[in-house]
Amino acid sequence: MTTSPVDVAVIGAGQAGLSAAYHLQRRGFVPAPADEPGVVVLDAEDGPGGAWQHRWESLRMGSVNGIHELPGHPVPPADPDAPSRDVLPAYFADYEERFGLAVRRPVRVRAVRRADDDPRGRLLVEAETPAGPHTWAARHVINATGTWRRPFWPHYPGQDTFAGTQLHVHDYVDAARFAGRRVVIVGAGISAVQLLDEISRVADTFWVSRTEPSWDAGEFDTAARIEAIAGVEARVRQGLPPGSVISVTGQRWTPWAQAAKDRGVLVWHPMFTAIEPDGVRMPDGSFHPADVILWATGFRADIAHLAPLGLRTPAGGIRVARTRSLDEPRLFLIGYGPSQSTVGANRAGRDAARAIVAERRDPARTR
Ligand code: FAD
Repeated sequence: MTTSPVDVAVIGAGQAGLSAAYHLQRRGFVPAPADEPGVVVLDAEDGPGGAWQHRWESLRMGSVNGIHELPGHPVPPADPDAPSRDVLPAYFADYEERFGLAVRRPVRVRAVRRADDDPRGRLLVEAETPAGPHTWAARHVINATGTWRRPFWPHYPGQDTFAGTQLHVHDYVDAARFAGRRVVIVGAGISAVQLLDEISRVADTFWVSRTEPSWDAGEFDTAARIEAIAGVEARVRQGLPPGSVISVTGQRWTPWAQAAKDRGVLVWHPMFTAIEPDGVRMPDGSFHPADVILWATGFRADIAHLAPLGLRTPAGGIRVARTRSLDEPRLFLIGYGPSQSTVGANRAGRDAARAIVAERRDPARTR
């Protein structure tokens, strides 16, 4: 296997990874191989766009939950009816080209490990490339691998006995394939409510979640949002698995939530206690028949390749403060925890780049 030295390896070229690459480049980093300081951006996809390439077809530019543009280049005006999976990957492609970010794909990182015991030594980023296995020996690693490939499915008694269809939002295509069926939608987040509105137009829906979402009266409650992000930040600093920001802020009255309410389908029920072949058993003992269970239960951080670093706490998270791993200061995690949004990913990319640049100038100061 060949090994190339590099200053910074960025893993993932979604919103977070591209932001980091942009900010590094603005501060003098150039795509490797080149004279240092060099940066390499590795992405597992065949094309640009990160997870946006895989969002369901009916998610339109008019129904995404507010996209924050990549740093330094606005999203071009888009038809609100255009699928986000078409518009945003094209925007990302243009962005990479405009700033010469030289993303390498498809390159999947399999493992990140320490080269030796020297805490100032290199981290080895081991990857599969089209030309075979390759390792980059990096001074710093910025992990920006998102969550899309790790849909979260909770477990309930009887789940395996269900005779109908179970799917996660990850695999949702459109409402048409549920026409005339009885669909249980599980989850309290934005996608649950959005798909409830959409599916209830053609099918019989039944919405459940563990806790009833609270509804923000305001258009956008900034104070609650800042508080929620601070809460997630505190969790990841302690090494707890990052919680979702929405679970703390509550739901906004988005157009789709309002539409579902107006049509009388935004009716919340407590979580079922068990799954049976033809439906779900409710906490009061009643039975609700179902043909489909749609799990809108979120995603988890896609970080299995970091396992050789041994950073996982007993609670199941990685201790991170201001994007940096507290237990492996050569590693940054962006788009993780409090930065899991397009605006958060942008800021996290900038913060990681700034920290690396500050450390190059004054190695003693930042560790
Ligand atoms: P991603 O876009 O997932 O990019 C990660 C990249 O890393 C991918 O290209 C992936 O292939 C690559 N990768 C993963 N593992 C490896 C590996 N081992 N080696 C190499 N590459 C790897 N946020 C908003 O602000 N507005 C919205 O409207 C919105 N809608 C959303 C809808 C859904 C259904 C979901 C799940 C999230 C949504 N979010 C939204 C959150 C938002 O998508 C993210 O915060 C942001 O886009 C994620 O960017 P990212 O760079 O962290 O991850």
